[in-house]
Amino acid sequence: MTANFSKLLLSWFDKNKRDLPWRKTKDPYHIWVSEIMLQQTTVRAVIPYYERWIKTYPTVFDLARAPLQEVLKFWQGLGYYNRARNLHKAANKVVCDYKGQLPSDPHLVRHLPGFGPYTTGSVLSIAYDKPLVIIDANVRRLAVRLLAIKAQADTKQDKVIEGFLTKLLPSKRVGDYNQALMEMGALVCRNREPLCNVCPLKRFCKAYSLGLQEVIPLPQKKIIKDIHAVIAIIEKKGKYLVQKRPSSGLLADLWEFPGGRIESGEDKFQALVREIKEELDVEVKSAKHLFDLKHFYTQFRVNLSVFICQLKNYPAVYEQRKWVGRKDFSRYPMPSGSAKIVDKLFNKT
Ligand code: SF4
Repeated sequence: MTANFSKLLLSWFDKNKRDLPWRKTKDPYHIWVSEIMLQQTTVRAVIPYYERWIKTYPTVFDLARAPLQEVLKFWQGLGYYNRARNLHKAANKVVCDYKGQLPSDPHLVRHLPGFGPYTTGSVLSIAYDKPLVIIDANVRRLAVRLLAIKAQADTKQDKVIEGFLTKLLPSKRVGDYNQALMEMGALVCRNREPLCNVCPLKRFCKAYSLGLQEVIPLPQKKIIKDIHAVIAIIEKKGKYLVQKRPSSGLLADLWEFPGGRIESGEDKFQALVREIKEELDVEVKSAKHLFDLKHFYTQFRVNLSVFICQLKNYPAVYEQRKWVGRKDFSRYPMPSGSAKIVDKLFNKT
């Protein structure tokens, strides 16, 4: 089965693979950048970011030299900023410890920031043809169908899937083989309505032979939490108050307008007054509602109510809290929700 399976898969990949910029290179650093960007982000969204990134930071030395704030600004819009932070940290380590050459030994790579088992497997198999299995959401769905596992396609299945895929690894073109599995999951063995009629693997597929391809995997129960927050736009002589988030935790090191969650029992104005007192230690004199907007994250939905505020006195500013002119916002990396507010305030989108 092994030889036939990989032969069919690779020949399908050669004819059907999408023409993507990171498939035109064997440069380990470029492959590494693309793999980090592709985590939790769609291929279509990644392409322009990847192309601009490679133009701006063509080598790992260019990235290592760049200031973190500039790198985070570059990343703005891709989300999950820890990826950019780790990329930057790891670039510095690769420059210092490995003379700018990403090692090919998985044990060394696993110690670099941002390299979990998936990233290690994908980067090393694609860049150096290392015989490592990788499991992303597309591969997981494809594998549970091939094996007809009647369960949700989650990480609980990964041990079984890893054993199954390890047995099928070809001796050559491992990187293409891994990419082919992911591509097959994305284009043919799709989440809904898999295209079994054109699938080169259907003769190996237990779900297909049992007529269960639309039933497997079982649907995920998604819990989306709603978060309600108030945001204060505070203006002084044409400049706006923003603050930098702490260097660890959610949305670390990004800049945002003051504000925070509405607690239970509070109305929006009460929440605004409390947040401004807690965060800035100043009193709100008056506030006028400007607009509401929603922003979606994987696990939650944020409902932001934006107010323009007059204060009784202004807070002190320092390294982590600044007055920023509207033209200078482009230098401050912000979470997507705050970036939308800037667009709405100044660019009227
Ligand atoms: S036959 Fe259908 S369900 Fe099975 S791997 Fe191919 S596309 Fe997926």
